[in-house]
Amino acid sequence: MQAIGGPAPVASPDVPEFQTSPGTRDILPPDSARVRQLVSIFAEIVGRAGYGEIVPPMFEDLGVFQRLGEATDVVTKEMYDFVDKGGRHIALRPEQTASVVRAFVQHSPLTPWKVWYYGPNFRYEKPQTGRYRQFDQVGIEVLGVDDPNLDVEVIALAARFYEALGLRQVRLSLNSLGNPDERASYVTALQRYFEANLDALTPESRQTLLKNPLRVLDSKRAEDADVVGAAPQIGSFYSDETAAHFESVCAGLRALDVEFTVTAHLVRGLDYYRRTTFEFAAEALDAAQNAVGGGGRYDGLAEDLGGSATPGIGFALGVDRTILACDAEGVFGAPSLAPSAFVVDTTGGHEALLITAALQRAGLPADRAYENRSMKSQMKAAGRSGAAFAIIIGSDELAAGTVTVRPLAGHAGEDRTQLVVERGDLIDTLRKLIEP
Ligand code: AMP
Repeated sequence: MQAIGGPAPVASPDVPEFQTSPGTRDILPPDSARVRQLVSIFAEIVGRAGYGEIVPPMFEDLGVFQRLGEATDVVTKEMYDFVDKGGRHIALRPEQTASVVRAFVQHSPLTPWKVWYYGPNFRYEKPQTGRYRQFDQVGIEVLGVDDPNLDVEVIALAARFYEALGLRQVRLSLNSLGNPDERASYVTALQRYFEANLDALTPESRQTLLKNPLRVLDSKRAEDADVVGAAPQIGSFYSDETAAHFESVCAGLRALDVEFTVTAHLVRGLDYYRRTTFEFAAEALDAAQNAVGGGGRYDGLAEDLGGSATPGIGFALGVDRTILACDAEGVFGAPSLAPSAFVVDTTGGHEALLITAALQRAGLPADRAYENRSMKSQMKAAGRSGAAFAIIIGSDELAAGTVTVRPLAGHAGEDRTQLVVERGDLIDTLRKLIEP
């Protein structure tokens, strides 16, 4: 069959006809176990702070995401949108903040509403290491509170999460983008400044300037560095109130020993941010792809989505990139998927069926060999599985109502003595051997 709108896949003996589409990946064991563990660490850290999980749908009416801002690449260039069979214009979510705020407006929960999420997002980006078209994020959002202490809590939770994974080289940059009026005055000043220095800007940045002068500050091109470096800073546009809010956030982070750098030119890819904005960069990764997470206040978003004016703040952390950062720092390795016991049955396989089921029911991870292979082949499979013990049942054991418990390479203990135990005692014996 030919792919719709694309070239016919070329089948060859070495290359399967179907493979993951560009920018998507299969996450296989043991990496998938790592992702699961990462998410449970996250859930535990934010759960302790009173956040409950929200699972929004993966697609929404396109309009929900359009509210993220007309000058946002994620919205204008990268959205996976389509008209469904009912004629609705739908988009796969490019991020989850808009969905969470839409859910807040739809369900009117009591405030403060503190939620966390995990799941995939979709952006039509140029795929490369650390940049995918389907990627996972974990994140939190809080609606209904305007208090700098909350900004501190939110940022500190992200920092604690990275710490819990064992990451030591994640740097936090912090800025305040001011309230909408201050931000607007700043954008006008930036526009004037860049227009006066057009010749010093790259053509790409000149294009960006037409759409959003703030994003010119994001340019990573060396040719733009001088003009961007000398650009006006938002700090001179703060009201006393904004300055005090920002100072409280900084003081709170210091009080909690969260290290940060104030970065006056930090703007973020999504246009809805107001006041507190922050980003985490993993220094162990290449600069182009080292943003592992970020967030900020989005006090206007609930109103943009049809709700009443409600302050909001949150962050999203890239799961894929966080794991790349862990690899780069050599921390948070894949958990072992090895079973405690591997059952080797040379009597036909039925006993293995009974014994593995009994072990598993007792909470002991157990696997087995299939297809009535030879003892040698089954023992090889037991070794490959990484199991701590082989549970061997042959005709002698079957007749005597026993099993042989043989320590394997996966067994951490020193004692390598093989035991013969009554079948009824197997679970207790194994428990003692595994957790002495
Ligand atoms: P954003 O939602 O754009 O604020 O991104 C938050 C975090 O999600 C970033 O810091 C990245 O770690 C991650 N992220 C964003 N886009 C991608 C992508 N295309 N592929 C992988 N991770 C991404």
